[in-house]
Amino acid sequence: MVKPTFKRIYFEKDIVNYKLGKYLLDKYSDIPKTEIKSHNNIEELRKYENKDFGKLKQYLIIGTRKTHKYVENHKISDFLVPFSSSGCYAMCMYCYLVCNYNKCSYLRVFVNTQEILDRLIKFSNNSDKELVFEIGSNSDLLLENLVTDSLKDNIEYFLNNTTKGKLTFPTKFNLIEPLLNLSDKKRVIPRMSLNPNRIIQKVEFGTSSLNERLDAINNLVEHKYKPYILIAPVIITDSFEKDYLSLIQDMKSKLSSKAQKKITFEIIFMTYSFIHRKINEEAFPNAINLYSNDLMTSRGIGKYHYRNDIKDKCKNYLLGLIKENFKDCTIKYIV
Ligand code: SF4
Repeated sequence: MVKPTFKRIYFEKDIVNYKLGKYLLDKYSDIPKTEIKSHNNIEELRKYENKDFGKLKQYLIIGTRKTHKYVENHKISDFLVPFSSSGCYAMCMYCYLVCNYNKCSYLRVFVNTQEILDRLIKFSNNSDKELVFEIGSNSDLLLENLVTDSLKDNIEYFLNNTTKGKLTFPTKFNLIEPLLNLSDKKRVIPRMSLNPNRIIQKVEFGTSSLNERLDAINNLVEHKYKPYILIAPVIITDSFEKDYLSLIQDMKSKLSSKAQKKITFEIIFMTYSFIHRKINEEAFPNAINLYSNDLMTSRGIGKYHYRNDIKDKCKNYLLGLIKENFKDCTIKYIV
């Protein structure tokens, strides 16, 4: 797993007016800094070439979040909520944040968390029903927490100021310590994202290993969380069947019997893009090629997904494995 070792910090001037802003400036006082007008438009970083993708990930951007639009969602949550960060300093070769932000997928943290949380609390309290909020769709919050040390406080603040509403987020990291002693675990749903270890090593650069993630699930379950597992993104290569069989076998042998009970699965096949191809070819010339002309077809300009006939075959294989091995599980969706 990558540790945060930033080469430079870019920051908006007004972060000094926020507790987290002051904390970060102090925590990283020995790192060179550049003041910027807006975290959305850092002119000198826009000039970097695709091959410099890894270098961009070594920068930390600190600013305030200005957009707070909640997007309706009908998968595991009711709304996607822009939260305390966007981007990430790990480098998964398929990361959809790359597609959304092109090369600007470096970690940006937002120091106006009080404002972000107060909006969410109001929204949740004003709703007639209990809503589930996805707060991790723009970054990996457990990794972000290594920088901001604020995840536990943020979640507690939400729990303490709402009577209903749940928070959920996916992660590829075993950094679950801040979640272990929360005051109301029924309202927090961490979802561990898994892939075969071969795929993690070759594609998900800088993330926790499969064993570390499985240990983290065991630990979460010991601390009264229900097991939520994302198999995502499913990547089809020549060794697809062998890879995903090994994942299921590792889950069977390493997850505790408690953690194997009543797992809720989400399964998402990889989508890819021309932007990913270009960045990966130039930044990781020796890595495996995730694009396949034979397996993929185009969806919209510069976007690729697996051909339906191939995906259906792989879906059936994977569903068969899961149902055979985790009989009482729920499969929320497979897309
Ligand atoms: S850990 Fe998540 S957010 Fe970070 S690069 Fe990988 S997929 Fe993207």
